[in-house]
Amino acid sequence: MLMVQKFGGTSVANPERIKNVASRVTTYHAQGHQIVVVVSAMSGVTDNLIKMAKELMPLPAEREMDMLLATGEQTTIALTAMALHALEVPAVSLTGAQAGITTDGVHTKAKIKNITPRQVRSLLNEGKVVIVAGFQGQTPEGQITTLGRGGSDLTAIALAAVLKADLCQIYTDVDGVYTADPRIVPEARKMAEISYDEMLELSGLGAKVMQSRSVEFAKKFGVPFEVRSSLNDNPGTIVKEETRSMEGVVIRGVSLDENQAKITLVQVPDRPGVAAQIFKTIADAHINVDMIVQNISLTPDAPCTDLSFTVDKADLLKAAKIIDGLRRTIGAREVIADEKIGKLSIVGVGMRSSPGVAAKMFETLATAGVNIQMISTSEIKISVVVDIAKGKEAMRLVHKAFLENQA
Ligand code: ADP
Ligand code: ASP
Ligand code: MG
Repeated sequence: MLMVQKFGGTSVANPERIKNVASRVTTYHAQGHQIVVVVSAMSGVTDNLIKMAKELMPLPAEREMDMLLATGEQTTIALTAMALHALEVPAVSLTGAQAGITTDGVHTKAKIKNITPRQVRSLLNEGKVVIVAGFQGQTPEGQITTLGRGGSDLTAIALAAVLKADLCQIYTDVDGVYTADPRIVPEARKMAEISYDEMLELSGLGAKVMQSRSVEFAKKFGVPFEVRSSLNDNPGTIVKEETRSMEGVVIRGVSLDENQAKITLVQVPDRPGVAAQIFKTIADAHINVDMIVQNISLTPDAPCTDLSFTVDKADLLKAAKIIDGLRRTIGAREVIADEKIGKLSIVGVGMRSSPGVAAKMFETLATAGVNIQMISTSEIKISVVVDIAKGKEAMRLVHKAFLENQA
């Protein structure tokens, strides 16, 4: 069997943990399996590198950022190879480039263009364990790139796809995907399985257990995978194509995204073209907008409206500056930026065929005195923006209402 096993930062946090990884890999290797190991930087290393860079300048060149960040994973692959050698297992470490991972040139969030794993294949055929640096690739011109935070998940899934692996396992510090982040909601339960679409929504809405781009990739190429713990042998969570029985569960999970911010334009003239102008300018600055809410005008003779939208916290300053510059041209009264928001979401494919879900969510929040600032929905999710100070408590209440005391 050909297996891809990915170990995240906490699973390789120190030499002791790396020894653990090596002994797990050795067990599978001894059973005759071919194994590709993908590793992250040791926990805290990537954050620390970013911190050092920002001490030198606020917006470092993105090419140099990638050069810097790629060192984190390069350290771990070499140490993991050594740990396997110490157990007399033949192992070879490869950078992303050596593993044949080619990306576009968008530094710090590059997309994988193609993978030619010639070297990986031939090493596997020689009986070697191949250890690949996660999170990194190379442009056709030979520049080092990285795949966005959490990108080692993507390396693992993409290699599993191209190698047609029989099994792809994502080892982390929790033993699966839970109905909510177990660090915030102690009552959260581990799921035995979850569909790609549900996992995609949860990870896109704040559940960082899987990088959302990696789930998108898994869905596109039909790569089922298992999320499990590197610290025990408990069965994990299988992420795969939706099956009939999954529809029976109305709400699969709850997530909270505390990395968004809200911009409100107060008293915007209500005429055609204004929204287009605002969002075109934002898009031209490569800023992603998530939720948008616009009120209806109440004064027919001087129609105007309030308009709010959310962006990543990291883009708030940039976006607020742009909108402020636009304020006079469009004739809005005021621009308000608010960082203190949390986006709380519930996700489940069963929602499609089950009325009353939104009402129950809103009622739960109302009873607890949590004000809803914005709402957005899709077929399988409902998101609300609330005051960040109430986010975690609201998450626990909504989890309780939908996911606790059920058979
Ligand atoms: P790794 O370093 O292995 O990639 P991450 O820190 O990226 O691990 O992701 C694992 C963390 O994701 C867990 O420690 C947990 O706190 C968090 N998490 C958030 N939402 C969930 C969820 N629904 N289920 C499980 N873990 C979650
Ligand atoms: N080391 C990178 C990060 O911290 C990639 C990863 O861990 O998946 O984001
Ligand atoms: Mg991760």
